[in-house]
Amino acid sequence: MLRIQDTMTGEKRPFETQEKNLAKVYVCGPTVYDYAHIGHARCFIIYDVLVRHLRASGMAVEYVRNITDIDDKILKRAKEAGEEPRALADRMTTAFGEDMAALRNVKPDEEPRVSDHLEGIYAMVTTLIDKGHAYVADGDVYFSVRSAEGYGRLSGRKLDDMAAGASGRLDEAQAQRKKDPADFALWKGAPLDEWGWESPWGHGRPGWHIECSVMSTAKLGETLDLHGGGLDLVFPHHENEIAQSECATGKVFANHWMHNGFLEVNGEKMSKSLGNFFTVRNLFPLHEPESIRLWTMSVHYRAPLGLNFEDGEDGTPRFPGIEEAERRVEYLYSTRRRLSDIAPQRLVDSSEPVPEDLGAFPAALKLVLDDDLNMPKGLAAMQDFLKAVNELCDKAQGKKGKAAKAAVAAAHAGFVALDAELGLGGQDPVAFLDRVRDRRAGKAGITPEYVEQKIADRVAARAEKDFAAADAIREELAAKGVELHDSPTATTWTMT
Ligand SMILES: [Zn+2]
Repeated sequence: MLRIQDTMTGEKRPFETQEKNLAKVYVCGPTVYDYAHIGHARCFIIYDVLVRHLRASGMAVEYVRNITDIDDKILKRAKEAGEEPRALADRMTTAFGEDMAALRNVKPDEEPRVSDHLEGIYAMVTTLIDKGHAYVADGDVYFSVRSAEGYGRLSGRKLDDMAAGASGRLDEAQAQRKKDPADFALWKGAPLDEWGWESPWGHGRPGWHIECSVMSTAKLGETLDLHGGGLDLVFPHHENEIAQSECATGKVFANHWMHNGFLEVNGEKMSKSLGNFFTVRNLFPLHEPESIRLWTMSVHYRAPLGLNFEDGEDGTPRFPGIEEAERRVEYLYSTRRRLSDIAPQRLVDSSEPVPEDLGAFPAALKLVLDDDLNMPKGLAAMQDFLKAVNELCDKAQGKKGKAAKAAVAAAHAGFVALDAELGLGGQDPVAFLDRVRDRRAGKAGITPEYVEQKIADRVAARAEKDFAAADAIREELAAKGVELHDSPTATTWTMT
């Protein structure tokens, strides 16, 4: 059974659901004013693995991730670009979906947008006002945090400390409208000619936090089995979601709170002003999205993940960590290709037991993921598994080599488990390996056509028994990082 760290209790505890074998999971999604950055990639891959793992363990999952398509940042960016806010949000929502698919994240069952849930927001805010938890002030509506029992229990903050901290950051007009500096906006009035909606309290836009309370309830009910998001959302976003929801419904909002660690770039917070900001679209031309995916799994999801980069010779940045991850994904796909290349006539019935690292891999992977989704240990188990598959392939490919049918079947089952649990290794191996190779060749300044021509020249030289010329071609290619692999039927190539 899955045990997962719960931010509310500070303990790793069993993930228990309200309904047997059904997990209701809500994750805070993106604010769609720009392309997804590498921190988004990390966050949403983590929850993707959570959902995959639950499903692989036989549980049905209702996975909801919202799209924040109403926000001041969208308005600001749209104004700068001379675009309608709605058009910008739609464009970025589409791009986000494409990027998540490229990273091999499963599509959530529902991706509600704030702009489709205004009525629900009016209803919940009205309830909060009626129950005395919120008040109208000059076109705004504020939530009264002192009315919410236990406010601050997720983040461990004390209300009086927060109030003292908040007072310095408020703008004058807002500060005057609030009864308490710690109160937060449920609805924000806006000038009539500004992007907005007609609420019972006048023209304006919803506050940020209310949307998640409304959309999660609309899609999954009043109590979630698990609510997830980045560590930066614990306060104030999730704290405020709890206050709103529990004051409105009288029910526990979420039974389990999961938070993932930050992403740092060269040891600093990623930000545009520091010049260390990378969208996934900046990285996709340099590396396979699946390599980025594996790289994000190289540290525990609760720990900070460091993206390090250095300036490459040609001026484009180099990411050594992702380069290393790409080697690992390459190894994964070349192993899968070797396995599928085992000729049927080499398969034999055998009474030999299936090697431990082959047969036990799916269970071993499940075990480490059950322990607070330990993906680095999952990758270590994968490495042992791939080694075992390669040993099996070595046996099958030797002279008069044979492979036990049961071992080959176990190897295939291992790859199925790997894709189901971690979303790794599920693409076409040949296409993947060719893309990586051709991209690497491009970096070395050579084209696949050039290499193919050299291979043809070498075949011709060998046909004429001019072995010196053939060897010279091999060496010429080797100097450029091209390695040739001769088989009885063809010559293939890889980049070192
Ligand atoms: Zn949220």
